[in-house]
Amino acid sequence: MNSDLEDLYQQVILDHSKRPRNFGEIPVGAVHVHGDNPSCGDEIHLHVKFAADGAVEDIKFTGQGCAISQASASLMTMKIKGKPRVEAEELAHAFQTLITTDATDSPRALGDLRLMNGVRKFPQRVKCAMLAWRAFEQALAQTPESEAEVSTEPK
Ligand code: ZN
Repeated sequence: MNSDLEDLYQQVILDHSKRPRNFGEIPVGAVHVHGDNPSCGDEIHLHVKFAADGAVEDIKFTGQGCAISQASASLMTMKIKGKPRVEAEELAHAFQTLITTDATDSPRALGDLRLMNGVRKFPQRVKCAMLAWRAFEQALAQTPESEAEVSTEPK
């Protein structure tokens, strides 16, 4: 990364970890997933409300953790809120590819999330960045109004 990009990365991560977007709960009609990253101490409670056609009608999160886990969750909710189910699944897949492989061409659709590809060099940080996305993938597999747990560590 050149230094301009690095500055931008720092700014985006700091901004989203200090003022996370879509922070809160969805009291009615949502799927709830509790995500846990014990290696860093990150925790997320993800709440996703799917429309009748499967689109991501609303998505919010609560929880606590390091700046990367919080920023990734905040950016994720901004990116997939309102998206059709297929598009949300594609974004989740693209993000995982971005931070876990050497792929150099990241889809433009990821927007600011592309800045997070710097974590790929640090396996512990990859877990932080992936936590919210693992929770979202679990939410996609849940029945309406159910609850589930995910962890970055094998049980
Ligand atoms: Zn973390």
